[in-house]
Amino acid sequence: MTQTTVEYAEKVLLSGNEAIAMAAVDAGVKLASGYPGTPSTEILENLAKYRAVYCEWAPNEKVALEVCIGASFAGARALSTMKHVGLNVAADPLFTAAYTGVRGGLVVICADDPGMHSSQNEQDNRHYGPAAKVLILEPSDSDEAYHFTRMAFDLSEEFDIPVIVRTTTRVNHGKGVVHRAAPLDLSGRHCSLEVNPQKYVMIPAFARARHVVLEETLNKLRLHAAESELNRTDMKNDRSVGVITSGASYQYVMEVIPENWSVLKLGMIHPLSDDVLSRFCSSVERVIVVEELDPYIETAVKALGFKCDGKNLFGLQGELNPDLVAKGFGIPSSSTTIPAKALPPRPPVLCPGCPHRGTFTVLKKLKTFVSGDIGCYTLGVNKPLDGIHACVCMGASLGMAHGMGHVLSGAEKKKVVAVIGDSTFLHTGINSLINMVYNKSTGTVFILDNRTTAMTGQQENPGYGTTLMGEATNNVDMVALCRAVGVEHVYKGNPFDTVKLHELAKREIERDELSVVIVEKECVLAFREIIEEPLTIDALKCIGCKACLKVGCPALVWDGAGKKVTVDITLCTGCDVCVPECPVDAFIVPEKKNRGEV
Ligand code: SF4
Ligand code: SF4
Repeated sequence: MTQTTVEYAEKVLLSGNEAIAMAAVDAGVKLASGYPGTPSTEILENLAKYRAVYCEWAPNEKVALEVCIGASFAGARALSTMKHVGLNVAADPLFTAAYTGVRGGLVVICADDPGMHSSQNEQDNRHYGPAAKVLILEPSDSDEAYHFTRMAFDLSEEFDIPVIVRTTTRVNHGKGVVHRAAPLDLSGRHCSLEVNPQKYVMIPAFARARHVVLEETLNKLRLHAAESELNRTDMKNDRSVGVITSGASYQYVMEVIPENWSVLKLGMIHPLSDDVLSRFCSSVERVIVVEELDPYIETAVKALGFKCDGKNLFGLQGELNPDLVAKGFGIPSSSTTIPAKALPPRPPVLCPGCPHRGTFTVLKKLKTFVSGDIGCYTLGVNKPLDGIHACVCMGASLGMAHGMGHVLSGAEKKKVVAVIGDSTFLHTGINSLINMVYNKSTGTVFILDNRTTAMTGQQENPGYGTTLMGEATNNVDMVALCRAVGVEHVYKGNPFDTVKLHELAKREIERDELSVVIVEKECVLAFREIIEEPLTIDALKCIGCKACLKVGCPALVWDGAGKKVTVDITLCTGCDVCVPECPVDAFIVPEKKNRGEV
């Protein structure tokens, strides 16, 4: 694996995600594949702009990692990106890739979300280190995001192991100065096939041997960690207190720490070096571990026989900040953070003109129990729609509805429907539809097809029509796909025509056979050409009954003084979902230009 360097140096202000993208280019990555998920999404979006690396969105994280494993086996450096829950989907190939090892450097960026800014849980993916037996690095700012990512590729090849670079939201989205280093020139490295079944074919006999190799590798990495520049110690003469920390927590610590306290900053999170921890803990009188979420480092310190404070001071939930760290230290905080309660409440709602609004309006009227999924449409859970009644993880809605259908009976069984988005359906929902067909479900599935991965910012997916690199490509035919897996009753509905959609949904929910209703209309933010002229309301006709407000559109404004509803024409997209709700036809609807029939 020849590597040469090119003269280069630059100082740039970047977010952590931009820094990781730049690092991938400079590390000579040849292929990158991921699935969008906040806070990781912008990595591939930025990397694709360089045009030097082939980038693609995969339908899910497992596929993305498998694509990268293939590229690595062929000798190329490969990068896979995902959010923390995405690694659960990719865990299957990850655990075995630790056994096979790599050929070209294989790096997974896994972005955790402490505080659940946009996630269904706040799992701490540092635990994947010991569980999957892979190397984990944890940067604490943009500069480290850049350099740690580059080092991750070197370490992956040097130790023949996949490397996770674990970030958190503050590192992904925070901006900082990055000291760009000379890019590697890997143009002399040619990809080729290597036949080595003992290394790359994990049948039990070969896997047993590879497990021995893997444990030896982890031991070598422990020794490496003892000397690695990734772990930094700043010792002070006064040895009364020493703080161990890593990642974003390091930044909070450095904002508030008393000058005389020592710090051990860990950059290598798995394997941890017992030597590094022991040396530090033995040299100070009191140890405090500052880390978000689980007591990962704290447990390692205690396992070595040292007393320490940690979760007893900082708690197990959410993000830390300088205030919380100062409070845990028992020292005053000089922070000027404005308390969140001082801000006006802004409950999240579906956008004006969102096609999901029509579906939830209809399903609410039909008094369904909605087994929902992860996407923009999960916002349908909020008032006034109250439209989601269960939601666990990507792709789970169909499986859960099938399970409910099997244990319920009569009217309750009939009430259950599954609702899933197009990207989520292609992510992992399709497997559950196959299961519903195979195991003779009689349920109804609503696929809310807005032609994009809207929740994370309108990324391309196999139903979008273009790739991440901007090339035109095949567009999955949802009807043909559902029919191909064996669903006999597949119908299309228009969420902007709620009258017809109501008839269709009612008919299919009552059907004693499995059916799929594809509710198709583009995301109003991604496809702005669908926006029509705004509606207005005839104030003389409006009786102030508030029936239209039940669709939960932010463009509908209650005028308390006049006891009428008005339309905010700067928000209204003319979708018409509110129109059939009015008992006195008070809406004035302009002629439609773009309203094609579904
Ligand atoms: S006010 Fe009515 S027509 Fe306008 S965006 Fe909202 S629901 Fe659609
Ligand atoms: S439903 Fe019609 S009458 Fe009732 S508040 Fe809305 S616009 Fe006015």
